[in-house]
Amino acid sequence: MAATQRDYYEILGISRTASDGEIAKAYRKLAIKYHPDSHPNDDEATAKFKEAAVAYEVLSDAQKRSRYDQFGHAGVEPRAGGFHDMNDVFEAFGDMFGGSVFGDLFGGGRSRNRTRRGADLQCEVALTLEEAAVGVTKQVQLTRHSRCRACSGSGAAPGSEPRMCGRCGGIGQVAMQTGILRVQTTCPECRGNGRVITKPCPECSGGGAVPDHVSLEVKIPAGVDDGMRVRLTGEGQPSPDGGPAGDAYCLIQIRPHKIFKRDGDDLIIQVPLSYCQAVLGTTIEIPTLNGPKSIDVPGGTQSGEVFRLRSLGMPDPRSRQRGDMLIQTYVEIPKKVSPKQEELLRSLASLDEEHVTPQRKSFLDRVLQYFRTDELDQKK
Ligand SMILES: [Zn+2]
Ligand SMILES: [Zn+2]
Repeated sequence: MAATQRDYYEILGISRTASDGEIAKAYRKLAIKYHPDSHPNDDEATAKFKEAAVAYEVLSDAQKRSRYDQFGHAGVEPRAGGFHDMNDVFEAFGDMFGGSVFGDLFGGGRSRNRTRRGADLQCEVALTLEEAAVGVTKQVQLTRHSRCRACSGSGAAPGSEPRMCGRCGGIGQVAMQTGILRVQTTCPECRGNGRVITKPCPECSGGGAVPDHVSLEVKIPAGVDDGMRVRLTGEGQPSPDGGPAGDAYCLIQIRPHKIFKRDGDDLIIQVPLSYCQAVLGTTIEIPTLNGPKSIDVPGGTQSGEVFRLRSLGMPDPRSRQRGDMLIQTYVEIPKKVSPKQEELLRSLASLDEEHVTPQRKSFLDRVLQYFRTDELDQKK
């Protein structure tokens, strides 16, 4: 990747609020404009063509797009080093042009003589908040295809041979007449393989592959959040024809915590205070991921007031900077009191009649005003 990267929206010439349809349309326009077939040996056009493909790869994927919007280029990982050659681009987005745009304009046929990448796999791993805070190594189980030993991957029963496809003559493509157009399409008989299995291998039912259960170690970085994915490069399905293997994506799940709620990199804890603690002030001990911490709650603390302990939240998986711990207090009103407490509260209440708090005073004034204007309105 170049040191300075252009903004993906700028590359495609669209606004940050562009719809999926607008993104695809903008990319298609650029891809046709800078298509290598129309600009042979033009490095600048080739660079523009690839740049548009990278931008499209990110913005056409809702998850990647939202990470890009949040974190910029650092938030997305385009395929290692971008697209290496034109075939990568066609492989990724060939569908979008499938015969209609590129096919008609450039004759298609690019899908022949190149290998296909293996499919991606997905697995899941559940973490506690504590594990997510420091990062952890976990074992995950994956099931991927491995070459069938019985038939060496040919899919043909031992002792038999796959025969050449009679429909396409082994090319894997056939010409179809649709109206006035003649188009090349994948052979329906052999599904593009060029060969047909007459006696399928009993071990793999002719598929040439058998399931292989593997256990992998996944290093999960500190600070990951629920729904993030860790990529295990090259751990996906093998390529069906000698190309690169796919990737495995490990989906992170964070189990709910008994005490802390997470909000991005901040952790929130709700702490009850008694009426007396809120009025008189107190020191409370609260748990954090780094052990217990004391905080001073000043007298006159209101229900819902929030205190902040800097850098005691979750780390950001990229910058490693830690969020804060937010302590939200609420005043708990007892449902039952002892006779002694009741006696004290009653005498406190009689004092409160004489000493009205500012909020209550302004409330009572407003109520009084309200009734007065009501009376006036009725007299009119
Ligand atoms: Zn087999
Ligand atoms: Zn065929």
